[in-house]
Amino acid sequence: MKLKEAKMFDKLKRPLRDLRISVTDRCNFRCHYCMPAELFGPDYPFLKKDEVLSFEELNRLVFLFHEAASLEKLRITGGEPLMRKDVDKLIEMLSKTTGITDIAMTTNGILLPKYAQKLKNAGLKRVTVSLDSLDSKRFGEINGRGIGIEPVLEGMEAASQAGLGVKVNMVVQKGVNDQDIIPMAKFFREKGYILRFIEYMDVGNTNGWCFDDVISKKEIISKIDEEMPLEPIAPNYPGEVATRFRYKGSDDEIGVISSVSDAFCGACNRARLSVEGKLYTCLFATKGFDFRELLRSDATDEDIKATLVDYWEKREDKYSEERSEESSKTRAKIEMSHIGG
Ligand code: SAM
Ligand code: SF4
Ligand code: SF4
Repeated sequence: MKLKEAKMFDKLKRPLRDLRISVTDRCNFRCHYCMPAELFGPDYPFLKKDEVLSFEELNRLVFLFHEAASLEKLRITGGEPLMRKDVDKLIEMLSKTTGITDIAMTTNGILLPKYAQKLKNAGLKRVTVSLDSLDSKRFGEINGRGIGIEPVLEGMEAASQAGLGVKVNMVVQKGVNDQDIIPMAKFFREKGYILRFIEYMDVGNTNGWCFDDVISKKEIISKIDEEMPLEPIAPNYPGEVATRFRYKGSDDEIGVISSVSDAFCGACNRARLSVEGKLYTCLFATKGFDFRELLRSDATDEDIKATLVDYWEKREDKYSEERSEESSKTRAKIEMSHIGG
């Protein structure tokens, strides 16, 4: 794949290519590794409307980021992005103003039957649907809302019918859903959707993460390889997050995102924009840069672009290469539901 020429580099010579935009901090699930129900209860202070970037503000900011950085990809996420009213309108605006064609969304999928066609018409190319088990009871426990797998599978089907590309994300946790690795691999191989296993990460500070809960890429691959032999395949482009494999003798593919056991910070070209307009240059960052304040001041387009370049050029994040049990507990990291995955 031919990439556009990069315009700015951080201290480790990494460009900014991939912007992940969180459009809401709310969610209709309470996955215990992300928004545990006991902490994200009815009294949780979710952001108020005027604290959240409007579509117009988002559109201006992403356009300016694109001008400054030559972005390749946008990913709409959350919280649950389909809980943001009229999110298809935002996608249409972003697609038209920036001309970026690779726009994807990460979603839990249950609202896709309602929105898939609108999203496709708006310019969305792909969805990544999260599903951690094929066992409805276990999945209901994981998502904290007792929701079974059917609505998620229906969501994937609706997306596919609408012409959207579909991938599936499974967060693997030891003692929670490791027994689902093989059934998930078989099921999605048959369906023709690429399944990506994600090592359970210490994002935020509320999920009680520890190293012992992680099943590594090596373990996941060897488990599948015993039943269905695999071979590695080359990345699609520099900085691809998932390590790719295919079932020997076929083109059927899986991926593993190994942020814990095999860090890929050296090629990390991603930044995350939070719901209220803070830019985070690492998933495990402790603070972000407040672009909402700039947007709501008399800053010119040139001021905003220069601020991004300056901020990116100071970046030296490589948390996954430095992670320890200690840092996972003591570092005040931003929650995943706030900045998106
Ligand atoms: N609500 C949408 C969803 O679940 O797909 C989008 C937001 S969610 C925060 C994005 C992705 O992050 C999901 O695939 C989710 O499974 C993953 N995720 C959340 N917490 C995680 C953690 N602690 N470790 C690894 N992945 C996590
Ligand atoms: Fe919601 Fe996604 Fe977090 Fe689950 S992982 S609680 S669906 S934002
Ligand atoms: Fe990128 Fe931070 Fe993850 Fe490293 S830890 S790959 S710098 S987001």
